[in-house]
Amino acid sequence: MTQPRRYLFLSTPVGPLGSGAGGGVELNLANLTRTLMARGYQMRVLAPQGSCIAGLPPTVIEPVAGLPPRYAQSQRRDAPVQIDTPSLLAHLWQRAAQMQDDFDLIVNWSYDWLSFYLTDFFRTPVAHIISMGSLNNAVDQALEHIAQTYPDRLAVHSRAQGQTFAFAQAGMLEGRDPFVYLPCGVDLQQYDFVPHGKGSLAWVGRIAPEKGLEDCAALSEKTGIPVVILGHLQDPAYWQQIQANYPQAQLDYRGFLPTRHMQQILGQCSALVMTPKWIEAFGMVAVEALACGVPVITYRRGGPAEIVRDGETGWVVDPDDVPALVDAVGRLDRIDRHHCRQRAEQHYSLNVMAERFLAWDRQICRDPV
Ligand code: UDP
Repeated sequence: MTQPRRYLFLSTPVGPLGSGAGGGVELNLANLTRTLMARGYQMRVLAPQGSCIAGLPPTVIEPVAGLPPRYAQSQRRDAPVQIDTPSLLAHLWQRAAQMQDDFDLIVNWSYDWLSFYLTDFFRTPVAHIISMGSLNNAVDQALEHIAQTYPDRLAVHSRAQGQTFAFAQAGMLEGRDPFVYLPCGVDLQQYDFVPHGKGSLAWVGRIAPEKGLEDCAALSEKTGIPVVILGHLQDPAYWQQIQANYPQAQLDYRGFLPTRHMQQILGQCSALVMTPKWIEAFGMVAVEALACGVPVITYRRGGPAEIVRDGETGWVVDPDDVPALVDAVGRLDRIDRHHCRQRAEQHYSLNVMAERFLAWDRQICRDPV
């Protein structure tokens, strides 16, 4: 009998797993680790000190020390690669190099030049789950090298995310798509279906400029509808500015909550509003809302527009168009919340997610090294 595959995951280094600093990557990594372990695969996660994944023995995570890298989304496109020492990322890779012979595949969850650059120097294959669109020239170059050298080692979460990379655009790689597509899944048992919303809107995510909370504040100011805000406060000055600019908006910020508690509040809302200013790679929160039966109103920008079916599980409107958001709120009664839950069950379960990952791994195994 063949041994089950052994996977070494390298976490995002921006903050401990469970802190919210890593956004959707945290939940995605935790969900995939739990699901693969439950299926008998051998798992180990290298992650920043203080990380925890609920429901897993602490020994699955090996804590690694060092300074986190800077957020890629707050840097200029032509920013040089900067590594603050002692570097957490460098320590993660050092440890991975020591452990590599005990694993069949190393999966990187960070979005950093060093992680992509090091792919060439490992005996054990390194694959990458890319969590953001194109933001930095140096990262793009490193990714292009991987795409040309190792087909199938790069996964993204949505077509729109993949299209942000110039090397992925038509014809650049001799017509070959450089990406494998891995939409994320959630543990549907953790999300209760709520048949009716109570009127408030929800806005869920890291409070940071790329997430565009100001447009949801404008929506609240125009309609008088309260908005419940949940998420990691990444940029306090930005949050202060929104409150100052939209004094009439009814914004109720409840902090960053664990999934169980977050979904209880989200489920009571009449819709989740997503107003990204960047090309959102996926948008875990859209799937989480659907799992609760909550329709999603989103800009046609990035992953959420691929998750939401316009007129069936929510409304997809032109980017940056606040009047269109207002209009969509007025049409929420046309969305059947049962359809929302069904869509999550059919397309975004943990099983579907694990099958996609395992198919990807089989593809990597077949590739000539
Ligand atoms: N989240 C959470 N508690 C909260 C608010 C948000 O656990 O109170 C999580 C949410 O479950 C999701 C992540 O924060 O996994 C946000 O991920 P998303 O993909 O929407 O955006 P990102 O931050 O990755 O850009």
